[in-house]
Amino acid sequence: CGIVGILGNQPAVPVIIEALRRLEYRGYDSAGVATVENHQIGKRRASGKLDNLAKLLDTNALSGNLGIGHTRWATHGAPTENNAHPHATDRVAVVHNGIIENHEELKKELIALGQVFNSETDSETIVQMVDYHLKQGKTPKEAAFETLQRLEGAYAIAMIFACDENIMIGARHGAPLVVGFGEDEMYLGSDSLAVAPMTRKIAYMPDGVWTVLSRKGAQFFDMDGATVECEVQTTALMA
Ligand code: GLU
Repeated sequence: CGIVGILGNQPAVPVIIEALRRLEYRGYDSAGVATVENHQIGKRRASGKLDNLAKLLDTNALSGNLGIGHTRWATHGAPTENNAHPHATDRVAVVHNGIIENHEELKKELIALGQVFNSETDSETIVQMVDYHLKQGKTPKEAAFETLQRLEGAYAIAMIFACDENIMIGARHGAPLVVGFGEDEMYLGSDSLAVAPMTRKIAYMPDGVWTVLSRKGAQFFDMDGATVECEVQTTALMA
C-alpha cells in the first residue's frame, strides 16, 4: 500500500524505514525492503507492524545505497512473510501497489517459459516477467518496458536490478507515484509525504507514465515508449 525507493549515496534502509513509517496511515499488513550491493539483491520482510521489520533488521542488517521498501495491503495471497514485498529473483527486485488483473494468464505463460514462482501474489508476475526478459539479454529498461506493456490493472511499481546499481525504474497506472530529486540522489514514493524529508523537489508522475532514474535525474516515458515531459515542483517546507 506504500512504496519508497532510494537511489543514493548513503545506506538506504534506515531512510526507507522512516519513509515507510510516514506511509503507515494508509494501512498495511506486512512490510519489506530490498537493496542491491555488489550486484547482489538482498531482502528482508516481516508480517505485521513495521516494528517487526525493524527488529529483524536490527539482528539481520541490510546494507546498500540503492533500495526499495513496501507496506503491503494484501489483495492476492495471505499476509505472510513470503507474500510480502519486495519480490525478487537474483536479477530484479520489485515492489507493487495495486492489482495485476491478468496475473493468472501471465503466470501460466511465464511458467511455460520456465520461470519459477515463490509466492501467491499477483505482483510476482511482474518480477518473473522482468527476470525472464533480463535472462534473454534485455537491458533493465527494455525488460521493464516489455513487462509494463503486458500488465493490466492498477499499479505503482518500483524496481531495482542486480546488474546495474545506477538505475531505478518506477511506473504508475491507476495508483499514485512521485519522483523526488535530491543532490546526487533520487527517490520514488507513493506520495510527497514519503519523500518530504529528503527533498522538496518533486514530480507527480502522470498516470500511464514510467520513469528511469539515475542519480542525476529522471527520464519519463509513456506506455508507447515515447519521451514525456514531467514538471518538477518545489513543495512548501514542512512544519
Ligand atoms: N496486490 C498486491 C498484493 O496483494 C499488492 C497489494 C498492495 O497494494 O499493497 O501483494
